[in-house]
Amino acid sequence: MNKKRIAILGSTGSIGTQALEVISEQSERFEVEVLTAQNQWELLVKQAIQYNPNAVVIGNEAFYKGVKNVLDPHDIKVFAGAKAMCEVVEMHTVDMVLTAIVGSAGLLPTIHAVKAKKPIALANKETLVVAGELISALTLENKVPIIPVDSEHSAIFQCLTGEYDNAIEKLILTSSGGPFRGKKISELQKITKNEALKHPTWTMGQKITIDSATLMNKGLEVIEAKWLFDVDFDQIEVVVHPQSIIHSAVQFADGSIKAQLGLPDMKLPIQYAMAYPERLPTAYPRFDFTEMGQLTFEKPDMSTFRNLQLAYDSGRMGGNAPCILNASNEIAVQAFLQDKIGFLQMSDLIETCLKTIPFEKNIMLETLTETDKETRLFAEKAIKNLKL
Ligand code: NDP
Ligand code: MG
Repeated sequence: MNKKRIAILGSTGSIGTQALEVISEQSERFEVEVLTAQNQWELLVKQAIQYNPNAVVIGNEAFYKGVKNVLDPHDIKVFAGAKAMCEVVEMHTVDMVLTAIVGSAGLLPTIHAVKAKKPIALANKETLVVAGELISALTLENKVPIIPVDSEHSAIFQCLTGEYDNAIEKLILTSSGGPFRGKKISELQKITKNEALKHPTWTMGQKITIDSATLMNKGLEVIEAKWLFDVDFDQIEVVVHPQSIIHSAVQFADGSIKAQLGLPDMKLPIQYAMAYPERLPTAYPRFDFTEMGQLTFEKPDMSTFRNLQLAYDSGRMGGNAPCILNASNEIAVQAFLQDKIGFLQMSDLIETCLKTIPFEKNIMLETLTETDKETRLFAEKAIKNLKL
């Protein structure tokens, strides 16, 4: 059997490194065709020497020489810059693109991959948040499958497998509730980044970990689900489930609910997306109902964790609103991680941006690029002046 040749965009991150582990474990099925990173060039080089891809791209051009020098004795093409990241996914030797870049930087390479008719294993949720409508149209036009890697969306995708045209009544997106579940606004005032970086059930990159603590991650996932599964926002319900065992569920028109369960381990949805429609055997630990004892559920607190409400609101507005939401959130998280703003000020900043940046209903890629730029500039200025 021919091995599936995978391009991993963002191979040095949490999803990227776990995808490489999956490829090592299933080496008779997959091989690495392309690896990309932004700044961690030494790790990229190490991965390249281990996995021997056809090509690597280092996003930050300042590290090109370093990568090139070390990889010189190897038969590996070396490129640098954002443009190269878009071009490399188009190579005819790439069978699937795993988008594991963080943030809206993942959008352009994904568009290039779709236009080159490459199946997408999608981890980079910000792409669908910013440009869901555009990407959906492009995937339809190019007949390209997008297979979700995000655990909730993978769960829903698995529940929908074999259901063909059966109507979805609602999607039930589960959320761990993050590390501050149950806390009041007054208690969130003084949260430090170290407290926010401790997620109760998942180990992930810094940005998504902060997003999980503010519930923005669930908000982004609501918008991601809307585009992946073509439902209305009223059909997406978020349920807090602290044990993260039920990864999400679908309720059908007959009232029946199908859920997908398992221990929280991103390697499962990563492997499922890469191997779809097959399920490959693994030796990962198994979930045991009797050991777990209890699975619990509660409603999300959207007035304390305003980001989730802001995401629903901007998703319903459509146009460039989710792009404003995403760009302001990226700047807010960065500023929080640099101790420039407090935990609650992240929502203040996003709300201010949504109120200030002009709304555009009809969007093209250029509109989104412009909105993204304008929002970032405004948000950075607002942080400097702290006029939130
Ligand atoms: P990480 O921060 O761990 O990794 C991000 C990767 O993207 C790194 O390889 C990084 O390179 C690269 N990168 C960063 N900025 C840029 C840029 N401007 N251009 C190109 N590449 C860039 O993130 P995660 O792996 O946690 O998350 C990746 C995506 O997957 C996110 O969209 C996240 O929401 C989603 N996701 C993650 C989950 C998880 O468990 N981690 C679960 C579900 C979804 P470098 O390291 O060199 O800086
Ligand atoms: Mg998720």
